[in-house]
Amino acid sequence: MKICRVLPLIALIATSGCVTVADVPAPTPPPAAVEIPGLAVVPDIGERLAQLPPTRIDYDRELLDENERAVVAQLVEAAKVIDQIFWLQVSEKNSQWNRELTEAARVSPAHADAWRYFGAMKGPWDRLAEDEPFLTAAGPKPEGAGFYPADITKEEMERWIAAHPEDAEAFRSLHTVIRRSGDRLVAHRYSVYYRDLLVDAAAKLQKAAGMTRNASLRDYLEKRAMAFLNDDYYESDLAWMDLDGPIEVVIGPYEVYEDQLFNYKAAFEAFITVVDRPETEKLAIYAQHMPDMERHLPMPDEHKNPNRGTESPIRVVQEIYTAGDARAGVQTAAFNLPNDERVREAKGSKKVLLKNVMEAKFRQSGQPIASRVLVPEQARQVSFDAFFNETLFHELSHGIGPGIIKGPTGERVEARLLLKETYSTIEEAKADVVGSWNVLYALDEKWLEGFSREEYFSTMVGVMFRSMRFGIDAAHGRGTAIQWNWYRERGAIVPAGDGRFRVVPSEVEESLRSLANELLMIEALGDYDRAKVLLDRYGVKTDEIATVISGLEDIPVDITPVFVAAGE
Ligand code: ZN
Repeated sequence: MKICRVLPLIALIATSGCVTVADVPAPTPPPAAVEIPGLAVVPDIGERLAQLPPTRIDYDRELLDENERAVVAQLVEAAKVIDQIFWLQVSEKNSQWNRELTEAARVSPAHADAWRYFGAMKGPWDRLAEDEPFLTAAGPKPEGAGFYPADITKEEMERWIAAHPEDAEAFRSLHTVIRRSGDRLVAHRYSVYYRDLLVDAAAKLQKAAGMTRNASLRDYLEKRAMAFLNDDYYESDLAWMDLDGPIEVVIGPYEVYEDQLFNYKAAFEAFITVVDRPETEKLAIYAQHMPDMERHLPMPDEHKNPNRGTESPIRVVQEIYTAGDARAGVQTAAFNLPNDERVREAKGSKKVLLKNVMEAKFRQSGQPIASRVLVPEQARQVSFDAFFNETLFHELSHGIGPGIIKGPTGERVEARLLLKETYSTIEEAKADVVGSWNVLYALDEKWLEGFSREEYFSTMVGVMFRSMRFGIDAAHGRGTAIQWNWYRERGAIVPAGDGRFRVVPSEVEESLRSLANELLMIEALGDYDRAKVLLDRYGVKTDEIATVISGLEDIPVDITPVFVAAGE
């Protein structure tokens, strides 16, 4: 699962060697009105492209030795093949559109922009605008993308399965495409349908397996290569959980969001990353203190649960290269895999934070937003280090607080079930607020250093609009609105008179404590009505919030990654 795919990210001028803000396009001149028959593009293509400035993504080279860098180079080659499969999964017309746009780009600046946007979106539909076609002739995106016949409906699929129960498993499989054959529907296994590409990718993984000196990586790559040829990913998912070395790589079919018809079909993607050793060592310390953080929660002891099992381990990595689904539209800042419940039961799952991608997003959108929202002296206090730790402690804090509680009739029940549709917003807000509570605790205890409480508060408030601008209807945005409105009402954030805001550190801490208590008690009691009251009163887009958001339109929404280590 992608975590917080549109999660926050923002920034200033590069202080680390990993990310630099490069080649931010100059304001696009009005496109020359070159009409290309049958290849019209939307008139605002230049502004759409400017939402995703090209941004260099690189990693600390000393984290890998020469052998490991050679293995990575081979993995990049495999990922490029996986990328080709994803293009087909989005639409089999993609290569034709690519040829036409490449040709048109020679004579028309608007088409040159459209061709770049096509690359970022992996097709002619705008992933930042509900899949609206920016290449007009493409028409609406088929709900089932390239996984099904373009004209198929849900009803037709369901009728077919009802009439042919022996087909049900293959039709619902994660790893098949559905095609017409005369008047029949047929499921083709990925290993057969994409055979040439998967044989090629498997060979490249085998070659990398032959090069690496890390036994756990060799095991994963060999098993994954086998899975490409037989569609059975179970053993290689298990092997991925056991990866134990500097190279963290994910390659294969994972997420099902691209299939909006049924969410049955897995899209191919790859993340090639390297473990961030210093951050990983710090994480080990925080992990030891999880029971202390639980005991320190601002709620009555009877609801605390210091023995709550550790959930998924967290890895902090630097991204080297991505391909396929991972590189389409908004870039993933963190993910939690594998999705296979059998593997999760046997071995759990891993949460992976992509630190250099988070930093790139922070610099391109988070920091510019903070600079516009906060008074200048507080905007200057905003830092990536504080932002990164806010995100890290958000993730850690999903594993803190009430999980399984005593239900209304004394039975043991997950709070999630009692809170119904309010749960995801309450839980996201809880992870934010309890995360910040824990950052303050970690600063006090000196487990964490590098920034002050005041710098943390400025960062926390400064980047709030980064998630709210994506919509208050989604769990993250609404969870943030709850915090903004709560702090505003309590005088922890006050208007500075010029459209900007000032954080009042002396008031923030008490507001943080009271909101953490409210969210934790809602979960501890599974109190659906109390959750509704909180959401209705605070989880709303006030006129003030709407005004601030309308002043952010020119700030990039995300980045287009440029992977330096892959020679881009
Ligand atoms: Zn979260």
